[in-house]
Amino acid sequence: MTFEVHQFSCLSDNYGYLVHDAATGATASIDTPEADAINAALEARGWRLTHILNTHHHFDHAGGNEALKARWGCTIIGAANDAQRIPGIDQQVADGDVVRVGELQARVLEVPGHTSGHIAYYFADQGAAFVGDTLFALGCGRLFEGSPQQMWTSLQALMRLPDETLVYCAHEYTQSNAAFALSVEPHNDALVARAAHIDALRAQGRPTVPSTLALEKATNPFLRPDSVEIQRNTRLEGAPLVEVFAETRRLKDHF
Ligand code: ZN
Ligand code: FE
Repeated sequence: MTFEVHQFSCLSDNYGYLVHDAATGATASIDTPEADAINAALEARGWRLTHILNTHHHFDHAGGNEALKARWGCTIIGAANDAQRIPGIDQQVADGDVVRVGELQARVLEVPGHTSGHIAYYFADQGAAFVGDTLFALGCGRLFEGSPQQMWTSLQALMRLPDETLVYCAHEYTQSNAAFALSVEPHNDALVARAAHIDALRAQGRPTVPSTLALEKATNPFLRPDSVEIQRNTRLEGAPLVEVFAETRRLKDHF
């Protein structure tokens, strides 16, 4: 099976992703932050857009749906429980459903919290997860429509994927996320080392995405409410993990 991911910048800090199945020529855009940039990426590779896989309805994720569908006649896939907010949706999916892009298969995970209808796409055979605005490198999405409990449940679902899974998030927020992460867990050596590496990558204009789930588990404060240092810094030693997560998210909102 031939799986290619082309990653490129869109808008101010979004990433666009094209997932290409060389065996059949099928190509999916993960979200549609910017139709012009996606069209340019397709043209540069001679690829034809066959699918759009939406993670959620926000404009920087579904704003290009209609222009791309008009040009390519592609199939738009999105969450059944958010169908009325996904422009041009053709195929409605729910947790556990399998989405096909040519011969490639992705499993749908419902991961609400940032929005009520947020989903992720997990390509198990390729070890790649497209997580939208649920999990970021060293961060997680803001809770616009969900409760802390909902988001913590969603993050735990992602944490059950294999450690080596490549995590493709939708924004390059990593450097500012690192500053916050260091504020709540300054003695995490893996985090300190990662933050230095991130600074070096960004100084060269290089992306910090994708990361791996193992690296996120070791360094991302939103996956680490069990850290004694984070519990101490949120003044919640021994509290339920969801409370530590909620307080960490609240502190980030005001950081
Ligand atoms: Zn969003
Ligand atoms: Fe976004």
